[in-house]
Amino acid sequence: MTYSIPKGVYDILPEDLSGKELWKESRRWQALKTLLRSSAETYGFEEISTPVFETTALFQRTIGENTDIVSKEMYIFEDKAGRSMTLRPEGTACVMRSFIENHYQQRAYAHKLFYIGPMFRYERRQAGRYRQFYQFGAEAIGQAAPEQDAEMIDFLYTLCARIGVKNLQIRLNSIGDADCRRLFKQALVDYLAPFKKELSEESQKRLETNPLRVLDSKNPKDREITEGAPSILSFLQSEAREHFEAVKNYLETLKIPFVIDRRLVRGLDYYNRTVFEIVCEDGASRDSLGGGGRYDHLLECLGGPNLPAVGWAVGLERILQALLAQNHRFSKKRGPFLFLIPLGEESTAYAFSLLKKLRLNDISCEMDYSGKKLKQILQYAHRRDAIFVSVIGDLELKERTLKIKEMASGKEISVPANEAEKHFLSLKQCYDHLP
Ligand code: AMP
Repeated sequence: MTYSIPKGVYDILPEDLSGKELWKESRRWQALKTLLRSSAETYGFEEISTPVFETTALFQRTIGENTDIVSKEMYIFEDKAGRSMTLRPEGTACVMRSFIENHYQQRAYAHKLFYIGPMFRYERRQAGRYRQFYQFGAEAIGQAAPEQDAEMIDFLYTLCARIGVKNLQIRLNSIGDADCRRLFKQALVDYLAPFKKELSEESQKRLETNPLRVLDSKNPKDREITEGAPSILSFLQSEAREHFEAVKNYLETLKIPFVIDRRLVRGLDYYNRTVFEIVCEDGASRDSLGGGGRYDHLLECLGGPNLPAVGWAVGLERILQALLAQNHRFSKKRGPFLFLIPLGEESTAYAFSLLKKLRLNDISCEMDYSGKKLKQILQYAHRRDAIFVSVIGDLELKERTLKIKEMASGKEISVPANEAEKHFLSLKQCYDHLP
């Protein structure tokens, strides 16, 4: 009996042996997560982690019954007490649930939170779509001003740029407030009704359940039909229009490249006013890297305080894949700093205690105890990208010296054994500064 990974998910591994899916290598994930966390700190965001499962009702209430996520994609299970639980398909609802439950409105009048973690959606299998994928998301709660939208879009753009993704562009739209949206929805339905039979099956359904989503259909015929559809922007009432104008002006001030995309409506029900996505203009990623928008009524709809909010999420797989498609140079893989090869029992005991001392000084080192031939051990050390190797035989023990060889250059030096720690510490400092 052999076991294989479920469909639509993947392993993150120390090395991708196929050489074709380098984005799955763990060091790239670690580097990305480090950058994400430090950028979040620069923008004043604090980390929040919520469980990977919540009650099903939370997502039904927030994301909306007629969305693809709720109607088709959730991983729902019953726990042993018969309660319906769902593996979280997105992070915002969870953050809002936690915000309310922990009375966070008492903490300050404005809050900036971020999360990194796996999300789960039973998506149709296609390139770049996984059933477990990682999102980094940011939520700014408490500020209704357009400055907050601009700051969030700036954060999203700057973060992706700082990571090294090139040719970025923000796509921007406003879906107005509930009143504008109601009028627009009606106008859209009226416009689409005569074309109903020509629309794709999916869009025909959406026309009934969630007409705004017909606008972001990828089907060419649907797109041809919606080309002439009314624009939501002409339905914006004065406050929503002023808000949108202000957001655009700030983005221009911040020199963030953006285009207005009147088809952009986003999949989830809870958005209002500003919605946005970030894409690579050169098509390095088939779909958007991330997106979000304003959701001023979400907290209240969950029984929380009446506080406005704006947030977004990016997909980590997409970012790594876009970087690779753009030939981004990741930092080199680093193996152990030192690989000790003792020959014989006495040397092994000595190497073991040296290993311990060096590790306590934060020097990454390893030791061989395979009993294999020296040539094979050296090949292994090379494969592991060790920077230095040191073979400890009877002579080295007797003379109380260590012979240290730099793998890349083959250069060898001798160090008195009682100075080995000091020596390695200063060597490590030089190497820590290398890219
Ligand atoms: P959404 O929560 O649908 O607005 O998605 C935000 C971002 O998460 C997208 O732009 C993608 O980068 C990523 N994402 C969403 N769904 C998936 C998926 N099934 N597989 C991989 N990434 C995804």
